[in-house]
Amino acid sequence: MMADKNELIQAIAKQDPDALQRLGWTKIANTLKRISARTFGWTDLEPYAQMGHHRDPDEIEEAIRQVVTTNASNGYRPTAAQLAPHLATRTGSNLPTPLRPDQQPAALQRAKQLITDGHPICQCRSVNLRSNRGVLACSECNGIEQGQADDALEQAE
Ligand SMILES: [Zn+2]
Repeated sequence: MMADKNELIQAIAKQDPDALQRLGWTKIANTLKRISARTFGWTDLEPYAQMGHHRDPDEIEEAIRQVVTTNASNGYRPTAAQLAPHLATRTGSNLPTPLRPDQQPAALQRAKQLITDGHPICQCRSVNLRSNRGVLACSECNGIEQGQADDALEQAE
């Protein structure tokens, strides 16, 4: 689902949580809020809406996750400008997308080994992740990130 730009900008201008929810943007606002202790208000959300209103909110969530997991924003909340290139790479090209560090076979192999050795898998689904040679660990519970754990168990030999 894509949000209508005017509706989305209006919802933010009016600070209308119901409209934001209906447009699928509440989770984006919540994810951005959680990343940093710095205050994140309605007006802070507007640049993201301007940049990403034509995108599926799930894609924006994924872009946030990519920026955070690759540490491209140095642990800070990613700006709309930092998210934009991650969205741009996802459509309009037939070229295969390069594998992210956490999707490299070697990283999946390491993740699988850790899980086999009894390392926990993250249950809290935090977006605060650390990457160690491509293995993503939750900063809160130290578990291996769920998506990567699933991939590791499915794909690694
Ligand atoms: Zn966790």
